[in-house]
Amino acid sequence: MRLTERIIRRLPKTDIHCHLDGCLRPRTVLELADAQGVRLPTRKLPALTRLLKAGPRTRSLGDYLRIFDITLSVMQEREALYRVAFELAEDAAAENVRHLEVRYSPILHRKRRLGWEDIVDSVIAGLRDGGRAHRMTTGVIICGIRSMDPKTSLRLAELAVAYKGKGVLAFDLAGQEKDYPAKAHRAAFQLVLKSNINSTVHAGEAFGPASIGQALHYCGAHRIGHGTRLREDKDLMRYVNDHRIPLEVCLSSNVQTRTVRSVKDHPFGFYLGQGLRVTLNTDSRLISDTSVSKEILLAARAFKLSPYEVKRIIIMGFKSAFLPYAEKARMLRNVSLEIDRIFMDEFPEDYDRGVTSL
Ligand SMILES: [Zn+2]
Repeated sequence: MRLTERIIRRLPKTDIHCHLDGCLRPRTVLELADAQGVRLPTRKLPALTRLLKAGPRTRSLGDYLRIFDITLSVMQEREALYRVAFELAEDAAAENVRHLEVRYSPILHRKRRLGWEDIVDSVIAGLRDGGRAHRMTTGVIICGIRSMDPKTSLRLAELAVAYKGKGVLAFDLAGQEKDYPAKAHRAAFQLVLKSNINSTVHAGEAFGPASIGQALHYCGAHRIGHGTRLREDKDLMRYVNDHRIPLEVCLSSNVQTRTVRSVKDHPFGFYLGQGLRVTLNTDSRLISDTSVSKEILLAARAFKLSPYEVKRIIIMGFKSAFLPYAEKARMLRNVSLEIDRIFMDEFPEDYDRGVTSL
């Protein structure tokens, strides 16, 4: 049973760790810059595309984050935000993503004094319109930024509260992890928790497991963004496993930021073997030059995954979604049957769906 990208693209999937400002189409960056009179480092599409993709010159999380300066420069108007969100939903739907959670930090879209509501409404509308035609559910995660004043995080948390049940699913903390501990932003998370809103925190990417501990125990995170270095603290790993705390794993991104040396060196396979709730995500379709299908294929090759294991990982993605329980349960039943049907179609001799009972 050989998995190919074509087969993986057919499977229903989730992407629950995906940055809006990392997922533009290169041509859109060019067109938006023209329309808005924004100066780009180059106006040639192939050269711009190269600049926008992390590669050998990206040597750290800092290098990776600097690429966002270019994309953010054209995302300062309502129409631009709508278009980028719409196209991202289309791109995800084209590879059968059925539930898409898109994160971004509205504070980074105020260079032209756009109002908070404009910034959030246009993204929610773009995702909704882009996903509607494709049976895809979408939602927004609002990010605080580690290196900014914690008061800004609190303001962003208030925004998440105002949009609870209206398109915003959760609150996150992103940005430079080293030297900017999550606990400084505790007030924002307290507000989020008190308001019964979901939360996730980027942690264990550019700093060790202590950062994951802070995300869980000071901020009350329900999921962990990356969690790559969790294996360095076995007791915390047991806690994460026992509480079924999902890890939002992004393999390509972790290689590009030098969090791991290669996909094979990533602890994903180890975590899967330990029974942790692991999910596979893009982080940034453009900057990481990837898709959910590519990430699953990378994992399947590096860790020699069987179709049954791929199904388990996809199901864990749906289980980890910030969706109401009843909706999620219904989705899970349908997705499980659909994956079985596709695998039985692709591997008529070998696939036994009994093995995959959950
Ligand atoms: Zn991220």
